Amino acid sequence: MQATVLSISGSDPTGGAGIQADLKTMTSIGVYGAAAITCITVQSSHGVVSINCLPPDQVRQQIKVVMDDHRVTHVKIGMVGTMAIAEAIHDALSDFKGEIIYDPVMISSTGQPLREGIEVNEFPVLLVSQCTVLTPNIPELSHLSKVQIEHHHEALHHAEQLLSKYNRLRAILVKGGHAIRNAAIVDTMVYRTENDIRTMSISHSSVKTQNTHGTGCTLASAFASFHCLCGDDIQSFQQSVDYVQTVLRNSAPMRIIRNPEGLGGMLHFSFRSENRTC
Ligand code: PLP
Repeated sequence: MQATVLSISGSDPTGGAGIQADLKTMTSIGVYGAAAITCITVQSSHGVVSINCLPPDQVRQQIKVVMDDHRVTHVKIGMVGTMAIAEAIHDALSDFKGEIIYDPVMISSTGQPLREGIEVNEFPVLLVSQCTVLTPNIPELSHLSKVQIEHHHEALHHAEQLLSKYNRLRAILVKGGHAIRNAAIVDTMVYRTENDIRTMSISHSSVKTQNTHGTGCTLASAFASFHCLCGDDIQSFQQSVDYVQTVLRNSAPMRIIRNPEGLGGMLHFSFRSENRTC
């Protein structure tokens, strides 16, 4: 039976991030994507206009109907919005034995909080206890570790500490884009083996482009998709970093949005999945 990758995330009407980016990524890589929406955002490259979070029970029911009807092997979680929705997701996934890849997004590409009203952003901690793979950038890892992290090496230390704290958590992909750095960006996977904790880093130059909206959502969805195809953390890490780099480079010369100062989305269709094998 066909495997399904389920994205649980917010809607971004521009198609650059959120559930729209997740489904584009899954389709380009060649897996069946399903989507349970947590919140409707109204946003453009000028900023977030409003966020309307769905009733938690409706989020729970979306997850349940897909789980009942499909063979869901992988879940990718992005924008959650409220603690009540985090609890509904946690509850809906309590019997799920497959992979849960969690991208603990906190702010939009335009810098505004991706949560409803005055919600304190405590819900990532609840979902971290349930996920198998976490994909934070450095500010998100700082939030989860409750320590201000600036450098990549400090990030790896705190990622190791999180791995030792949460039993189900097997790997943390630390995205290096926000670290204080020289030339290259270093993405590192800190992962558990039977006997110890190891790291694997991929270094790449920063692509000069305005079209970076949705790169975080895309990396996590690409990891979930490649893992669905090949079942291996190291290959999925390499292939997902390569996916984001390829699509970023292919989209770089294109004008996606009118706003000359804003960040555009990426052209996922530029990725040729038939050239990739896991
Ligand atoms: N999810 C939603 C619904 C968003 O609107 C955004 C950014 O605006 C994100 C996630 C995170 O986007 P990025 O992948 O650029 O970090």
